[in-house]
Amino acid sequence: MLVLSQLESSAENVTTLLESTVFHEVFHIEGRALRASFKSGIARYPVDGQDGNTLAQRAEAALKQAKESGEQYLHYQIQMHSDIAERLSLEHKLRAALDEQQFLLHYQPQIHIATGRIESVEALLRWHDPQQGLQHPALFLPVLESSGMIVAVGEWVLRKAAEDCRRWRAAGLGPVRVAVNVSAQQIRRRNFAEYVHAAAANCGAGGYGLDLEITETGLLHDVEGANRKLRELRAAGMRIAIDDFGTGYSSLGLLSKLPVDVLKIDRSFISGLPSDRASVTLVSSIIGLASAFNLAVVAEGVETTGQLALLGKLKCKYSQGYLHSRPVPAAELERALAAQAPRLRRSPSTETG
Ligand code: C2E
Ligand code: MG
Ligand code: MG
Repeated sequence: MLVLSQLESSAENVTTLLESTVFHEVFHIEGRALRASFKSGIARYPVDGQDGNTLAQRAEAALKQAKESGEQYLHYQIQMHSDIAERLSLEHKLRAALDEQQFLLHYQPQIHIATGRIESVEALLRWHDPQQGLQHPALFLPVLESSGMIVAVGEWVLRKAAEDCRRWRAAGLGPVRVAVNVSAQQIRRRNFAEYVHAAAANCGAGGYGLDLEITETGLLHDVEGANRKLRELRAAGMRIAIDDFGTGYSSLGLLSKLPVDVLKIDRSFISGLPSDRASVTLVSSIIGLASAFNLAVVAEGVETTGQLALLGKLKCKYSQGYLHSRPVPAAELERALAAQAPRLRRSPSTETG
């Protein structure tokens, strides 16, 4: 942060000064001349704020806007405030959310179509904002991603999902598996595999029972690296699913290069079933493709019995969507799992009388 004092505080004065100094400064380091590029946000006393805190906040708001729009510098403007201040305050709240235990997981069943049983569930992140109540990822995930916080929050998600999975198994609720969404930033970490192992170690004996859901864009960045990391996790018993399949753009190439077990057909294709011919063609082609690669298929966003019937006919293996259940808190899922768990056979000794 640069504080320019005793400058006649007009917008032109500040920019003239910046342009003639910092923006044009050449740095001489180890005999080489380096020209650095700057982005800057400018707030002026007293028009933009009466105290240091306000000025710093507003300069930061202008800086964020400059970075986003690609401008070298921007002066703070009132209308930046509503957007950027809101985003900054959201980021601020999210920074505290992990420590304050405001994150939670909801679970949505994935149904084995042929038997109607829940074989696995997807863990979906929720945030309990103390002021606004329960928030869905669309609102806060972009901020977790842009701030890098997704790496720490994603680690919490893995740990929590592993813990719940272990508890359900211990309670005899069946060999249910839990699918966790992981973002590109997590996968890109050099130690991604160790990071997952460490978090999942909670799941105890008998394999982790965790699966990972990854989008195509998350894998494109470094296919070689992703390949190596995913193989390692798969060797430890995790299954790898491609999420939102069909919405990315290099689907086929990836399938042949990466260790993948499951394709999740994006909701946008399922919603056209059963009447829209193009959707039917697309979905049945994806199922055919998956079977050629020996992959299981999950249909996402199944909302009607008509969609389910057609998916069954097309030999899609799993179905997930509001038709079966919305994402629900762990306790509610436990009741659903208990309802389908085979009754424990009473041992002969208890059958007296
Ligand atoms: P996704 O992984 O594709 O998850 C499916 C989304 O579709 C969920 O939204 C789910 O509530 C919604 N959905 C399921 N069935 C239906 C249906 O029948 N109809 C409709 N209209 N929607 C349905 P949600 O929970 O809001 O999550 C949105 C996205 O946020 C997820 O998409 C995933 O990409 C991301 N996300 C969620 N949790 C995490 C997480 O822990 N880590 C990361 N990195 N991303 C997450
Ligand atoms: Mg998913
Ligand atoms: Mg999806």
